[in-house]
Amino acid sequence: QIPSYENPSFYHLKILKKYFGHSSFRSLQWGIISSILKDKRDNCAIMSTGYGKSLCYQYPAIYTGGIALVVSPLISLMEDQVLSLKVANIQACLLGTAQKEKSKVLTQIMEKKYSIIYLTPEFLIGESGIALLTEMKKQLDICLVAVDEAHCISSWGHDFRPQYRKLGNVRDILPGVPILAITATATKRVELDIVKSLRLQNPKISHSGFDRPNLYLEVFHKNQDIMYDFTKVLDRSLGTWKFPGPTIIYCLTRKSTESIAEFLKARDVNCAAYHAGKSLKERKETHEKFMKDQLDVIVATCAFGMGIDKPDVRCIVHYGTPSSLEAYYQEIGRAGRDGEPSRCVLFFSDADFRTHLLIADKSDYSNFKGSHVEEKSTNIRKYLHSTECRRAYILHYFGEDYNGKNDHCCDICCRKDAGMEENYEGVDKDGYYDFKDDFKSMLKTIEALGGRFGVAIYILFLRGSRSAKLKDQFKKHPLHGCGKDKSENWWKSINNLLLQEKYIARKSFCMHGFTTYLFELTHKGERFLEDLEKKNDLKVEVKAPS
Ligand code: ADP
Repeated sequence: QIPSYENPSFYHLKILKKYFGHSSFRSLQWGIISSILKDKRDNCAIMSTGYGKSLCYQYPAIYTGGIALVVSPLISLMEDQVLSLKVANIQACLLGTAQKEKSKVLTQIMEKKYSIIYLTPEFLIGESGIALLTEMKKQLDICLVAVDEAHCISSWGHDFRPQYRKLGNVRDILPGVPILAITATATKRVELDIVKSLRLQNPKISHSGFDRPNLYLEVFHKNQDIMYDFTKVLDRSLGTWKFPGPTIIYCLTRKSTESIAEFLKARDVNCAAYHAGKSLKERKETHEKFMKDQLDVIVATCAFGMGIDKPDVRCIVHYGTPSSLEAYYQEIGRAGRDGEPSRCVLFFSDADFRTHLLIADKSDYSNFKGSHVEEKSTNIRKYLHSTECRRAYILHYFGEDYNGKNDHCCDICCRKDAGMEENYEGVDKDGYYDFKDDFKSMLKTIEALGGRFGVAIYILFLRGSRSAKLKDQFKKHPLHGCGKDKSENWWKSINNLLLQEKYIARKSFCMHGFTTYLFELTHKGERFLEDLEKKNDLKVEVKAPS
């Protein structure tokens, strides 16, 4: 007798309590589970980190007494799940291509020993995977195929895995079995890609909402001086070189994880580097120590990723811009799973974008035309230079409106709340800021220095620096110090704005084997300065945050 699925019956709640220890289903969980049980319907679920995705595919197997197949990209993630299911007395196993004792596991599967079978995509789409499915279909009851971390299907996602694209074939082998695609981060475009690629039919789409109200978002320009940057992250109330709690520092390259870890160790920070170049044993040890609070900080590449289930990560630092907003949101999602306030601090520089291109060139998927590096970097660039609430920007990017007022929101809202609007001095009553004078100062500076330098030298000049890096003749120039009332970051943003609006152009040249970048005026920039001489009422207005 199939009970009503409007609300979970007492019987369901009893099973939930017995096997999973929970007293009720979360509303999206129940919606998904009931549609699988009642209608055998396909599902595509986008649930923020910590919502409880695993229950959605584990419960149907337990309730029906059938078998759920779960595809997941990471062995370590699956090992953890198999272990925790064992503790709950639920029989689960794992199948990957390099699996030990594979034939024993395969035999046990056919003997109905397991309720939940975790598989890597490589195994499932390989010969033995397909043979297993065909055999299982004849003899066993497969109640569900779940595709975890389903964003890996899409080249528009942030962690594209080509093998995931072949998972649609499972539909041909198991036509009547519902498929559940599930992930924490997907834009509308990724969602559509998932549905199409897995050939989901009339799927039920569920969305938990992306907002993580306890995460505070901050962005800073990276300085040359790591020491200076990190002082912005440290918890001064705890003394020098203390981070606000368990912290992950993401870097773009393996080399920088090592150098930053060394830098921090020299300051007695209990930390370790983590990247794919380390041995599996070393990586496991580092991960375990972090989980057990034996390490305060992990300095990692994005290889330290899925499967990090530490509830009390208090701070995520990105020392370098992540390759996409999706990747960024996934990575900061590892902070504050316990709901307590946590900080997400991003340091960026223009050089980060060149590093992305180099990484994309070297990556295994570089010949895959649709890796969309450029478009992804444009989206994250806009985030870095946003003058609006950062939370609103991200949520909007994922297709959600954000109207809420949140005390723990972002640096921009916080500055506005504190009345620290020095950056927006000169904003008129309609909320426009006239950049004319700043553009003029920066362009005149570039002109005075002959367009032969990078932004750092121009800023030294603008701010009236006496540094030896600036030639003496420039220190005597009448414009030297013409922008000393504004910060270094301010001028960096002006430089970016001028570049974006094509008043200046960036040129690269190679010196002693190193690529260096200089900025020079374009025709548009030159014309702007000429027009300024002629018309005093010229305005360059950009809407400032209201
Ligand atoms: P996700 O994969 O979405 O990040 P998990 O499946 O790891 O989330 O679950 C996150 C946490 O939420 C776990 O500690 C889990 O025990 C808990 N959880 C899941 N579902 C429920 C529920 N219905 N009631 C209470 N806690 C739940």
